[in-house]
Amino acid sequence: MEIRSAAVIGAGVMGSGIAAHIANAGIPVFLLDIVPQDVKDGRGNDRSVVARTAIEKMLKTDPAPFMHKKNARLVTPGNIDDDLEKLATVDWIVEAVVENPAVKSDLYARLDKVRKPGSIVSSNTSTIPLKNLIEGQSDRFAQDFLITHFFNPPRYMRLLEVVSGPATRAEAVTSLSTFADKRLGKGVVQCKDRPGFIANRIGTYWIQAAINEAMDLGLTVEEADAVVGRPMGIPKTGVFGLVDLVGLDLMPYVSRSLLKTLPPGDPYRDIYREPELFTRMIAEGYTGRKGKGGFYRMN
Ligand code: NAD
Repeated sequence: MEIRSAAVIGAGVMGSGIAAHIANAGIPVFLLDIVPQDVKDGRGNDRSVVARTAIEKMLKTDPAPFMHKKNARLVTPGNIDDDLEKLATVDWIVEAVVENPAVKSDLYARLDKVRKPGSIVSSNTSTIPLKNLIEGQSDRFAQDFLITHFFNPPRYMRLLEVVSGPATRAEAVTSLSTFADKRLGKGVVQCKDRPGFIANRIGTYWIQAAINEAMDLGLTVEEADAVVGRPMGIPKTGVFGLVDLVGLDLMPYVSRSLLKTLPPGDPYRDIYREPELFTRMIAEGYTGRKGKGGFYRMN
């Protein structure tokens, strides 16, 4: 099956970048988010304001150097209440909403009623196993469903983890993987359906280890990044800057899901222990670049 049109649901850090990247490949894409509560309460009349604002931001940034077309204008903003039925025309739907299984599950049930038969649906989840995501969904949905785990920033990071389940149609995996390779310039890695897949299992291990160690040793963020950034292959942002980019609020989801896989007493449990500092920072709105800032100031 050839992918000629797409939709991305969730216009946050990841969804907006994924939509812009697909558009940069010359593919028209709908980008849908929720209708914000203040608009519902009558304080504003743009029901697609979240997606529209995200697209405006994307238009200000360049596509990845390996993409040929500057086509971010091919993204059409919308919202999940008014525009869901438009998804009946698209070949591939990417779900990039918050990392909350209940929200994802409700959305899949709604999507399944309107999507085109045989269209591919994929989730950008960082942590939730595919078998949990398809629980309670139709057989037809499970056959067309896979995980496409993009990395942040999704327009520039080459890696794409693809996870399929026992019910996923082989043709859906092949079509999507070929499209990601040839049109999106991604290096596709097939992963087993386990928490954190491959990269987050390893990444979370060293990110949390670096943060816990810096706190135990009383190092400043700059001191810690000076020591660990280059050896870990991320000299530009360092470990703490990477966490700011990913979003502090996402990190506990990843570490908790990995912790669940380790038996009591396993020595790695200590490394996946969630830094208490995260809880305090998140509560005060320091979720990283998308919030008031994170370990580094944003202004
Ligand atoms: P985010 O919080 O920046 O954005 C999520 C967006 O989803 C928000 O704009 C929110 O309004 C919207 N949303 C929530 N419920 C919705 C619904 N029912 N319908 C439509 N839109 C809805 O989150 P993010 O960091 O972009 O993460 C999105 C997904 O990508 C998550 O599953 C996350 O685990 C995964 N992911 C994130 C990163 C990262 O570095 N942030 C990397 C890889 C994967």
